[in-house]
Amino acid sequence: MSIPNTVAELTEIDRCHWLHPVVALQQHERRGATIWDSADGIHLTDVNGHRVQDAFSGLWCVNVGYGQQSVIEAAQAQMRKLPYATGYFHFASEPAIRLAGRLVSHAPKGLTRVLFGQGGSDAVDTAIRCVRYFFNATGRPDKKHFIGLQRGYHGSSAAGSGLTALPLFHRYFDVPSPQQHHIPSPNPYRHADGPDDAAVLASTVRALESKVAELGADNVAAFICEPIQGSGGVIIPPKGFLAAMRKTCDTLGILLIVDEVITGFGRTGPMFACAAEGVRPDVLTLAKGLTAGYAPMSATLISEELYQGIAEGGCDGTAFGHGQTYGGHPVSAAIANAVLDLYTDGGLLTNGERVGQHFEAKLKELEELPCVGEVRIRGMLAAVELVADKKTKAKPDATLRMGQRVLEHAFENGLVFRAFNDDILGFAPSLNYTEADIDVLVDRVRASISHVF
Ligand code: PLP
Repeated sequence: MSIPNTVAELTEIDRCHWLHPVVALQQHERRGATIWDSADGIHLTDVNGHRVQDAFSGLWCVNVGYGQQSVIEAAQAQMRKLPYATGYFHFASEPAIRLAGRLVSHAPKGLTRVLFGQGGSDAVDTAIRCVRYFFNATGRPDKKHFIGLQRGYHGSSAAGSGLTALPLFHRYFDVPSPQQHHIPSPNPYRHADGPDDAAVLASTVRALESKVAELGADNVAAFICEPIQGSGGVIIPPKGFLAAMRKTCDTLGILLIVDEVITGFGRTGPMFACAAEGVRPDVLTLAKGLTAGYAPMSATLISEELYQGIAEGGCDGTAFGHGQTYGGHPVSAAIANAVLDLYTDGGLLTNGERVGQHFEAKLKELEELPCVGEVRIRGMLAAVELVADKKTKAKPDATLRMGQRVLEHAFENGLVFRAFNDDILGFAPSLNYTEADIDVLVDRVRASISHVF
């Protein structure tokens, strides 16, 4: 194959050879890809020179924006010094060790051990494997069942995709397994007991209790949830949700896994949503904002109790059989350390919290539009839910592809974000946005909605 040098050639190779995630495959073959060429600050430019403001931080990950020199220099320096070092066996590297210590110091007290991986999906798989190992090693081998939330997203790996509860990740894939279960999403806007927060919360607690009763507490390992359901449509549970789940899990004798792959690293304001709510999960999964998309990396933090149970299980001298070649990659770790500096000393967490307040005030104004049922927002994570009828909350006719059309119009007018199910618009601007950048974002969204509806 000759080296492609025109956009048409690149497009053709993409159509024929790259199988993209989460697109209708034949439709992609007809449409072709939008091929990004470069990025700076909060903007992306495609190979045709079309420049757009990124209102989604890539895929909820580029929390520090593009072109951060300190991150680029940290990566370059680490590549020159030590481009690879395994974390297997008794080997380690300085940036990964430093990062493990820093993550533990930022996480809720008691999460003391870090397992590094490549992305959110394997962070969740690591969580599942650690929990299974823990119960087997501590003499409770029947504790095998996992419970998640409908509309939850926990990645697309063979195990984690069964805890995900979005139909397209299940259809034809033979998941969930018989050991994976889901209870209703605590979505105040659409819950049968909503919109009353207290009623939705009580109902969610009851649902977990009755699922555990149905399966038998001795057979249930853990409950997993996101603090805010991202890919499910930025669903913000009632206040006190994590604390209520923690309490319920403790009462039922099951573990709590909190998946902060999206909400971690300032996305909702604080470094971690669970810490801000005073909740210490037994397992915490992190990725995306950890390296802000500058390199792949994830981290699964487990409690000291879990670690001790797992370590004692291997007391006969058997090695702990879990890990990947690139776990704790030194370049990714150097990047993560530089990114953490930006969140803290660089002021990005503080900036995100301040700009997030402006974002909330401005985006909420869209609720005055007749086709906007609800605006949901916490920090720099937001959704606008479109409806055909505000009173009945009837969804727009799916065949009209409203969300997609809003997205397309906005893209032409210089803004990129995401639509879920064609009726929910999702936003995750980077933490280096200014108030003026937010105004551009919201004005363009308003113009695009008004154009389509
Ligand atoms: N968990 C959550 C909450 C996520 O939002 C995602 C991805 O969006 C994942 C896990 C999977 O992460 P990855 O796509 O890096 O495998």
